[in-house]
Amino acid sequence: MSTRLVIVNAGSPTGLKFSVEFGDRRALFDFGVEHAPGRALFSLGLKPRPGRELRDLLAVSAAPRLEGVYDAWDGRTAVFISHLHLDHTGLVRFLHPDLPLHYPAGMEELRAAAAGAGYAEWRDPAGQPVADRSRVNWGEIEVEFVAVDHDLPGATGFVVRTPDLSLAYSGDQRRHGLHPELTEGFTAAARGVDVLIQEAVSLTLLEPALEPRVELSESEAVAGLERLVREVKGMLVVNLYAMNRERVHALGRACAAAGRPFLMEPAAAAVAAWPHTFEDPAAVPRDACLQLSFENLPTLIDLRPPPGSAYLHSDGQPLGVFDPRWPLLEAWAAHFGMAFVRVGSSGHSRPADLVRTVSEVNPGLVMPAHSRAPQLLQVPGVSSLVPEPLRPYSAEELKAAGVRRATPRS
Ligand SMILES: [Zn+2]
Repeated sequence: MSTRLVIVNAGSPTGLKFSVEFGDRRALFDFGVEHAPGRALFSLGLKPRPGRELRDLLAVSAAPRLEGVYDAWDGRTAVFISHLHLDHTGLVRFLHPDLPLHYPAGMEELRAAAAGAGYAEWRDPAGQPVADRSRVNWGEIEVEFVAVDHDLPGATGFVVRTPDLSLAYSGDQRRHGLHPELTEGFTAAARGVDVLIQEAVSLTLLEPALEPRVELSESEAVAGLERLVREVKGMLVVNLYAMNRERVHALGRACAAAGRPFLMEPAAAAVAAWPHTFEDPAAVPRDACLQLSFENLPTLIDLRPPPGSAYLHSDGQPLGVFDPRWPLLEAWAAHFGMAFVRVGSSGHSRPADLVRTVSEVNPGLVMPAHSRAPQLLQVPGVSSLVPEPLRPYSAEELKAAGVRRATPRS
């Protein structure tokens, strides 16, 4: 018997899924949909048709054709989820109810809130929340949950051990957030594994000119929000990401300190666990900070932002200039005479931190994934293999492809 690793979807740029198989068991990691507005067939408002969602997604290859996970459970597959982002969870709702489903306990509160608000559908029954640093044994596959820092609560990586292979999966992670010690803890737990599957979202071949952006740390982003709250005299309309509860609450505190209300749309407030909402735009105070999603931009017509107002993009949808909806944001802000400001911080490791993490883990082999340009991840002394989707890799082959550095494995 030997372990087999299958990258179901390399996540280029999103939707990474892979399985580790040993004997009669299969552990499947993450189960999301690609976020590629304007390229994915179901994007920009085109949705699978009601009542035939899964069939539609399968028909356009937006969901993988996997036996034993949808209509009937094969008795051999268990699913492990790293965090709540849709590119890691969007297909969970289609999993068969009998299939064992595991996810980090740290995301349970957010998961329940997002499902309750209709923000992110989930399977019923929800599955098993797993405490950080706990291990789940699926046959002879052992899966350890190791928390990482990302831009929402309860993100995890995994260390997976089988009788003939050790493997770590980064999940989505960063080292410039508010909890770098979590990602460092993952790095330590993964040290010396045979294979590291590393997210490399920040590696891209896009011209920097297409995405002109100063890369802020999360604390710098929060400081930037605080400054805007103090300096913007009119209304401050914010397009933010409700699942990033820490940033939402930091903004709320800054508003409170400045004596301004911070109000959110009810669904977003439920996701963010923020108590103050607005329903009637006409009743919103003229000096308010107000969360407004892309879909609700027409609400600006009723809000009538006074002179001196600003539109702040802070990592809400659309996420960036790669999204064809982006120019609309700027057009709406311009129409209402609002300054357009962008202050955010990526949830993903910066390129230099990717190199640092891989060096510190010092795996036999790194498989960069979840990237438009995974081939750019080159770390001195560590073998790199850009995985080929759907091609099974044996433990033997993976270990042979790895070259150990001179430093001994600890
Ligand atoms: Zn993510």
